Amino acid sequence: MTLNHIKLRTQITYGNLTMIQENFWLDEFLMAEGTVILHPSIPVSLEMTRYELNVTEGEDVYIVVTGSTRSKATNDELGRRHGWQGFGGTVSKESKHLVEHGACAVDFYAKYKASKKRVPQKTVAKIARKYFDYVNDKYADGHVHGDNRNHV
Ligand SMILES: [Zn+2]
Repeated sequence: MTLNHIKLRTQITYGNLTMIQENFWLDEFLMAEGTVILHPSIPVSLEMTRYELNVTEGEDVYIVVTGSTRSKATNDELGRRHGWQGFGGTVSKESKHLVEHGACAVDFYAKYKASKKRVPQKTVAKIARKYFDYVNDKYADGHVHGDNRNHV
């Protein structure tokens, strides 16, 4: 058995259509330490973003989660590696990925199912802005950061 390999069942409403979506697994949100702390709004925002991307792109896309909740040790390590915000880097000391700041953030990108090509970062961010409180798409590696900072 793989611990935390549990399919998440998430109810979303798109237009007047309410449905259960099952495109994410709990272990996609593992912290570096192997535990999971997941804000309940994150799967909803991700499923909504994915669903609307399917509609607007006219083909199936899937979302790849590259990081969610972080311990302070992990955030410090990322800060050392990528630099701190305010000092030319991209990592915030008050990151919304941290438990003490709500554990309400997720980093991700999207791919087209058929071609496996990446959906452009700006395309993903434009849709994600409708379903997250805050989105940042200024990362050189192409990922999008979304967080629900108004829901902590
Ligand atoms: Zn982030």
